[in-house]
Amino acid sequence: MIEKMLEGIEVRLNLDYFTHQKAYNQLADKIVYTGPIDKFYNYEFGILEYRSLRFEHETLPIENYQGNAVVNYTEKDIPFTRIIEHKHFEFGHQSQTIITREYPEQWTVDKDAYYPINDERNNEIYKKYKEKADQERQFIFGGRLAEYKYFDMHIVIESALNLVKNEFSN
Ligand SMILES: Cc1cc2nc3c(=O)[nH]c(=O)nc-3n(C[C@H](O)[C@H](O)[C@H](O)COP(=O)(O)OP(=O)(O)OC[C@H]3O[C@@H](n4cnc5c(N)ncnc54)[C@H](O)[C@@H]3O)c2cc1C
Repeated sequence: MIEKMLEGIEVRLNLDYFTHQKAYNQLADKIVYTGPIDKFYNYEFGILEYRSLRFEHETLPIENYQGNAVVNYTEKDIPFTRIIEHKHFEFGHQSQTIITREYPEQWTVDKDAYYPINDERNNEIYKKYKEKADQERQFIFGGRLAEYKYFDMHIVIESALNLVKNEFSN
């Protein structure tokens, strides 16, 4: 499906937009930016915060650990928030199993941004970036980092389709 969607379109991977921002901006009249919106504006209104995670993987010599792909842990005394048992996503029958425990971790700007912290302070900062972004003619800001919002996969696809609809109806 993805190959068909990209047929005839040049794709360049593993490049950081910010390393040659000016040159990339000259490549197209319209650019969809999917990176962090605060970084785009050089953090001028402040850094938007995220919740981060640390993943700990373990291979176990058993066929089945938890009978399910995902089990969430909400107890205060358990340090991880969920365990993923990967084989259950694809109904695997291997004699061993691999699990991943997810631990909450303090986020710093050099780490992967996982979940936006949409509290009052961060939402106020985002509002300022959004006001600027809405004035841009060359850029469309889309997705979880550019819109500073948690999206599930199906919601982000719907949101992308709506962006396209808006763009072509203007
Ligand atoms: C920990 C975690 C667990 C999740 N679990 C689920 C789940 O179980 N089910 C579910 O439906 N959804 C889940 N999601 C949500 C899902 O990942 C998102 O809905 C989806 O990835 C959002 O797509 P996106 O295009 O907005 O962002 P992304 O997928 O993050 O895409 C943004 C893209 O922009 C690129 N980019 C950013 N900065 C630059 C730059 N400077 N230069 C070049 N490229 C850049 C990135 O490389 C990336 O490819 C989860 C998300 C997280 C963080």
